[in-house]
Amino acid sequence: MRRKLVVANRKMNGSLPSNKAFLEGLLTGTRDYPNADYAVCVPHPYLFQAEAVLKGSPIAWGGQNMSRFLSGAYTGSVSPGMLTEFGCEYVIIGHSERRQRGHDTDLAIGERFEVAAKAGLKPILCIGETLDEYEDGITDVVTIRQLNAVIREIGVKGLANGILAYEPVWAIGTGKAATPEHAQNILSFLRGHIEMLDAEIAENIRILYGGSVKADNAAELFSMPDIDGGLVGGASLNTDEFVAICQAASNTFKK
Ligand code: PEP
Repeated sequence: MRRKLVVANRKMNGSLPSNKAFLEGLLTGTRDYPNADYAVCVPHPYLFQAEAVLKGSPIAWGGQNMSRFLSGAYTGSVSPGMLTEFGCEYVIIGHSERRQRGHDTDLAIGERFEVAAKAGLKPILCIGETLDEYEDGITDVVTIRQLNAVIREIGVKGLANGILAYEPVWAIGTGKAATPEHAQNILSFLRGHIEMLDAEIAENIRILYGGSVKADNAAELFSMPDIDGGLVGGASLNTDEFVAICQAASNTFKK
């Protein structure tokens, strides 16, 4: 059975004192919820702090992006080796905020996924449709295109150490989460697509839902059979709310 995974995407938020409060609060707050996995993806300058506070605990940490190159003249970029040097287990790849504003292409994201996995990181591949694409009824076409770009690069078996996150762009930061039924339908469709290529990978890969996950909708979302947890942006800025989401994930597993 797949364990639920809840990942905080702290985006470009935080400061040394507020991160400390959050990370320590998370350590204490999740102590009674051991039936799920948790991770925190922080801005790169705070990786050393995440490592210092979380090392030796069950909570993992990671980056929010990385270069597809290993080293060289790429001013402002961070390599996969730099992430592993600071103990990262995860790295978010292809977040819509980077696809849209950072001009990340499907091809570059596929390459980045491969480089991350080879470096020993667990890439969290974000895919999802825009509002226009949702209204045009082409969610399946868009998400499969984004997923296939990665599969073409690494082969379906290359997904083995990765995580998939379905994040409809219209649900990110809007307070309007997808209904559990919509999210379940898409996740089941994506898993079915992977299953046609490799049944074992499909059975084992964790697929998260992201987009306005909050304390009050987490339990219902996580109760869906194909939703293996959440990628959480805004609600990860409030320790109590994020811990409540972790609790919902842990409780779902017990049922
Ligand atoms: C995200 O940015 O990955 C995200 C899911 O954000 P939010 O939870 O704020 O919608």
